[in-house]
Amino acid sequence: MESYDYIVVGGGSGGCTITHRLVKAGKSVLLLEEGPKDNSPYIHMPATFIRVIGTERTFIFTSEPQAGAAGRVTYVPQGRTLGGGSSVNAMVYIRGGAQDYDDWAARGCTGLDWQNVLRAFKKAESHMRLSEPWHGTEGPLRVSDTRFRHPLSLAFVKAAQEAGLHYNDDFNGEQQHGVGFYHTTTFDGQRGSTAATYLAEVLGKPNLDVRTDSAVTRVLFDGRRASGVEWRTPDGHIRTAHVRAEVILAAGALSTPKILMLSGIGSGAELRSHGIDLVYDAPEVGLNYQDHLEVSIYGRTREPISLLGNDKGLTALRHGLQWKLFRTGLLTSNVVESGGFVDTVGSGRPDIQLHVLPVLVGDVGREPLPGHGISINPCVLRPASRGSVRLRGADPAAPILFDSGALAEQADVDALVRGVKLARNILRAPSLRKVISEEIEPSAASEIGDAQLQDYVRRQAKTVYHPVGTCRMGGDTRAVVNPRLQVNGVDGLRICDASIMPTIVSGNTNAPTVMIAERCAEFILEA
Ligand SMILES: Cc1cc2nc3c(=O)[nH]c(=O)nc-3n(C[C@H](O)[C@H](O)[C@H](O)COP(=O)(O)OP(=O)(O)OC[C@H]3O[C@@H](n4cnc5c(N)ncnc54)[C@H](O)[C@@H]3O)c2cc1C
Repeated sequence: MESYDYIVVGGGSGGCTITHRLVKAGKSVLLLEEGPKDNSPYIHMPATFIRVIGTERTFIFTSEPQAGAAGRVTYVPQGRTLGGGSSVNAMVYIRGGAQDYDDWAARGCTGLDWQNVLRAFKKAESHMRLSEPWHGTEGPLRVSDTRFRHPLSLAFVKAAQEAGLHYNDDFNGEQQHGVGFYHTTTFDGQRGSTAATYLAEVLGKPNLDVRTDSAVTRVLFDGRRASGVEWRTPDGHIRTAHVRAEVILAAGALSTPKILMLSGIGSGAELRSHGIDLVYDAPEVGLNYQDHLEVSIYGRTREPISLLGNDKGLTALRHGLQWKLFRTGLLTSNVVESGGFVDTVGSGRPDIQLHVLPVLVGDVGREPLPGHGISINPCVLRPASRGSVRLRGADPAAPILFDSGALAEQADVDALVRGVKLARNILRAPSLRKVISEEIEPSAASEIGDAQLQDYVRRQAKTVYHPVGTCRMGGDTRAVVNPRLQVNGVDGLRICDASIMPTIVSGNTNAPTVMIAERCAEFILEA
């Protein structure tokens, strides 16, 4: 059997990052990724990522019907290619708030307090124009302003200031509050996924073996020590490899707990009911699921000016050529160019984030509204609702039993209602009023009651694609991983992806996952 120092399961945001660090440290690494290579042009042109959703390069996880979301099933698309989420995401570069990480430390996650994570964020980052005290300039992850700003994004930023919010040039700097333009994980007009940055730097090294189209089915154990992994190829063959040091799971918050459970780590009673041999009884595996949910407030524009609405025929060809030849123009937009963070309750911390798209957006299973317009999407930053990921049975090919917990807690609905009111105010401020003819949804009427808004929220809320928390890190023995990201109860197994977050951070989750992988590499290499 082939043997490696480390086997990394999942080539996404966390997986490519840790692979880079281990390979650079001279370790031999096998990286196994379920999806294909990231060789679709729609991945690398920033503005076209929406075309990748629903293809073989994404999973679409579907929940059970959710009582809190008007009985709907909810959909959570995730990356399934080299780079994982960082190859299909909107490239918004946000770290979250200092308090998020100090809260983790207070729950026993020593080593992931704000001072330590700030150092790791800076180590990861290569920012195009900002440096100390908040930014790094030498890391593999390229962070830039986008080269294109749509007039509707500019109008939003001005209208939000007219509505009383202040302009913030750097949501990752001194303070998170305010509105402005997002910094993005792009470089030279193209997507800077972890595959295009971290992994690209070490590809071809003799101590790295990358295999795509390889779906890991379980971790193999020798007693309680992880000894290797088993995976399935598209032609149905089962392969195995042996590990000398550690297996590192980085399959994301919806797949890592599934692999753990298939490997015998999870609720003893549940695993036995599926006929899976128990390695360690860890009842919290798959629990504590959290995600950011958002709703859209749609305004119709007077003119046909949406970002992608005119991009057809010869115009599309021109934009494509401009991108190919010069890496400029509309296709360098990350679509979610602008937004902000707002404290709607006076707690001193933003509780709502705004993602603004200069186009009318839909969702999986919901066509976008026809015509041209803007979508202002408030999301609840620290949701109280929790869901879970469980197995349906012992077959690795079976989809997970997924309870997204969407809007299970009234507090999350209330927060979104505050967000909708805020977004409607911004839509009515002068700089947007000039270009918007009417609010399409939730209502053109200037007054709408809370009951109607709550109903809108429950019928429309959708994922911001930030699932986390299903393999909770903690200082207590019930936690799935300890603060050095080692799986409790076994040896030679760590987790380095978004699943370890004990609570979701107040912002987008790609940069925090890269940071987690940087810390994971430090824990391994220090030892
Ligand atoms: C459409 C979309 C938009 C987003 N927008 C933003 C944004 O603008 N900014 C931001 O910060 N965050 C954004 N996110 C979220 C962010 O990208 C994720 O939080 C982050 O990528 C999670 O990293 P991860 O390492 O935990 O998992 P992933 O990056 O998802 O990596 C997991 C990898 O494991 C692979 N895998 C799964 N199961 C197996 C298996 N059995 N065997 C082998 N491989 C397996 C998957 O194919 C995948 O490549 C977005 C996500 C999506 C999907």
